[in-house]
Amino acid sequence: MIEEADFVIAGGGSAGCVMASRLSEDSSNRVVLLEAGAPTDKLLITVPAGMQSVVASPDTNWFYATEPDPSAKGRQIFLFSGKGLGGGSAINGMVYIRGTRYDYDQWAASGCTGWSWDEVLPFFKRSEDFDGPESEWHGKGGPLGVSQLRTIHPLAYSFMDACREVGMRQVEDYCAGDIDGTFVNFATQRGGNRCSTAEGFLKPVLNRPNLKVITGATVDRILFEGTRARGVRFIHDGAEREIRVTREVIVCAGTMQSPGILMRSGVGPGSHLREHGIDVVADRDGVGKNLHEHPSLPNSRQVDMATYNVRNNPFRLAAEGLKYILARRGWLTTCAVHAMAHVRSSPDLEYPDIKYQMLPFWNHQNVQAYFGPDGPVPDSTRTCGITIGVNLMTPNSRGQILLRDTDPLSRPLIDFRLYDDPADLERMRKGLKIANDIFAAPSLAKHVTGPAYPPDPGQSDEDWDDQLRSCSATGLHPVGTCRMGGDEDSVVDPQLRVRGVDGLRVADCSIVPVLPSANTNAPAIMIGERCADFIRGNRR
Ligand SMILES: Cc1cc2nc3c(=O)[nH]c(=O)nc-3n(C[C@H](O)[C@H](O)[C@H](O)COP(=O)(O)OP(=O)(O)OC[C@H]3O[C@@H](n4cnc5c(N)ncnc54)[C@H](O)[C@@H]3O)c2cc1C
Repeated sequence: MIEEADFVIAGGGSAGCVMASRLSEDSSNRVVLLEAGAPTDKLLITVPAGMQSVVASPDTNWFYATEPDPSAKGRQIFLFSGKGLGGGSAINGMVYIRGTRYDYDQWAASGCTGWSWDEVLPFFKRSEDFDGPESEWHGKGGPLGVSQLRTIHPLAYSFMDACREVGMRQVEDYCAGDIDGTFVNFATQRGGNRCSTAEGFLKPVLNRPNLKVITGATVDRILFEGTRARGVRFIHDGAEREIRVTREVIVCAGTMQSPGILMRSGVGPGSHLREHGIDVVADRDGVGKNLHEHPSLPNSRQVDMATYNVRNNPFRLAAEGLKYILARRGWLTTCAVHAMAHVRSSPDLEYPDIKYQMLPFWNHQNVQAYFGPDGPVPDSTRTCGITIGVNLMTPNSRGQILLRDTDPLSRPLIDFRLYDDPADLERMRKGLKIANDIFAAPSLAKHVTGPAYPPDPGQSDEDWDDQLRSCSATGLHPVGTCRMGGDEDSVVDPQLRVRGVDGLRVADCSIVPVLPSANTNAPAIMIGERCADFIRGNRR
């Protein structure tokens, strides 16, 4: 067992693997990466269509559950989150998207110096190995495979045609900071296989003598001498272990667990820590606050052609298997989303606030909750259908993470507030109505053969809101619980250093001050790149 390192990284997810890879490029840095989950080199993770199985497995998904959410009819909402090397990037839907110029310029304007679009773009590009044409917006030769989709369902084109029919524009390259309109998305894949950060960043450097990766290692807390981080305590093989740290600890355990590690270490809201008998090292009220997400509602319709949820034809499965083996093409290489679109819930908004994801399969998991187990929902293995997932990109509602107890193996207490602000409900309602317009536009309407799930809720706003509160889920993009900012109340400063202590940073989605208009894997990877660069001594 290693007893001393220069850098210890707590959590080997999307950002943590980037940190481990980049910091160990300098052979004089001794780097240790501690990950609670297991290695993620299994075939079902590599083959993109295996996503359904890996998401369903407690070996690779933490399956967090919120406390009953009063803003969602007292429902407990389930939150998927990657467990194992690569974290979310090893189980996610593989959509590659960065957000907009506006998102990051807003971060910078709010006090996050160094995080404007022009300043973060080089870090998105540094990671990237794009398989499309040379362009000022993309990187080549980086560790992260970013690919054009190898198979696009024909209804994705119908969806984009329908979006144009309701007045949207076609976006040429949505990675250029402008997502206002419709487009086919890219995927975090290389050669038809998933490219997690474990695969892209970590695997090629595992033989570095100065890098040690320990899986099955649950970080309990950071050990301080005064206010300086000097070590990490973790659980491995049922035993407590410690590593001494000469330079820095970087916490990368994700939005749900990074605040818990800080709190168990004595960095957090003083009164809450004292309730749990924890000695306060730094009284930081913001730790665990600012939890926010993309509220999301899948809106499915039956259609007139085969879609990916209908798998009962052995000949089709065999043909797709062969296509994958011989050419790395076909359904098995598919990522969940085949096209996207962004609109304004209100015409006076400067930027879009609603995102649509077109999925070439039927999705009624949340809708089932609305009807109950015996409700009139068609059998999804026999019903061809597509889904337009409706997401609110800029919610006002905020929740928080608290400690349940001081056991590092306990789940965090997630006080989630999906629709705490009624303005979020109103914008989602408008977003759903526009989704119905897209389904009704000629290019899609001609393929729709069956009713909507969830069904048209009725006339009144109350009916729509009732359905939203009953059926919405999270967009799988929780952020914000160790908020970055220029203000003294923020948890980390713009170089991701935890305020009030020394030798400690946080680098993962928990530092995001305000959700970008994007899924959050590429932003998490950019955050890892940015943090490694700060540690190398570059201030901006
Ligand atoms: C099912 C699913 C689908 C998604 N689809 C997409 C998509 O298509 N596109 C997209 O851009 N985003 C998507 N996302 C979101 C995206 O993957 C995440 O936002 C991103 O991976 C978060 O990165 P992170 O580094 O902040 O945290 P994570 O990747 O979650 O990493 C945290 C790591 O820390 C480990 N850890 C936690 N606690 C401890 C501890 N105490 N000790 C040691 N290790 C610990 C975890 O096991 C995990 O490996 C999806 C997420 C999920 C779950």
